[in-house]
Amino acid sequence: MLIDTHAHLDHVENLDEALAQAVAAGVTEIVAVSMDLASMQKSLEIKNNFFSPQIYLGLGIHPGNIKTEEIEEALDFLKSHMGQAQVVGEIGLDFWYKWVRQDAEKKKQQRDVFRRQLVLAKEHNRPVVVHARGTWRECFETVREVGIQSAVFHWYSGPVDVMQDIVSAGYFVSTTPSLAYSPQSQEAIRHAPIESTLIETDSPVFYRYDASREDGFKSQPKDVVRTLQIYARYKGLAEEKAAQILNANAHRFLGIG
Ligand SMILES: [Zn+2]
Repeated sequence: MLIDTHAHLDHVENLDEALAQAVAAGVTEIVAVSMDLASMQKSLEIKNNFFSPQIYLGLGIHPGNIKTEEIEEALDFLKSHMGQAQVVGEIGLDFWYKWVRQDAEKKKQQRDVFRRQLVLAKEHNRPVVVHARGTWRECFETVREVGIQSAVFHWYSGPVDVMQDIVSAGYFVSTTPSLAYSPQSQEAIRHAPIESTLIETDSPVFYRYDASREDGFKSQPKDVVRTLQIYARYKGLAEEKAAQILNANAHRFLGIG
């Protein structure tokens, strides 16, 4: 049994086959996040059509996918489907690109959309999946300020001090197969307690195999097994023991079990 806590199933090719392979690899549950209106609609359809592995539906607007003319319609969709969403995500702030950093309007829009979704999650007592690339401190403070109970700062690769504040607040950080080669991920995960860590794939993201190679693979939910292997090796833990703790964490994050 293993849980992929972050996958974009609406972007995974040959989903039938990918989910069958996930089952064969021992993946029992997947958190399927969304990015915009079309993505939410597709994720909902996937949730209603596939029963194995078990899918936890994540609905939300990703900071990189905000379309000005669509915001209200997308937020209305989210609001009216909160009953079906086990998770709100993937939401957050992304000021990674210079053109965004220099655009005060864009940043204001991201902050506004992020906060409105957090408030919805808070009202409905839903866990949130946060994308905080280059904005770790601000995202953490916003999540805490809104009073969110359960959150994961996904693919954590930010400063260690922010990670420690996240963990102290009772929130989670997650890691991906990039742990095999990303110095930023390694530095953060080295300091993160296992009890506050989740594993994921962010499928269908492309990953390198390791630091010594340039080639890699396009991920699928089955590759959460790889995340587990890399994580266990990196932390010096037995895979089975690590899996047990990481699965329990995922259920605690989801508020089940
Ligand atoms: Zn993602």
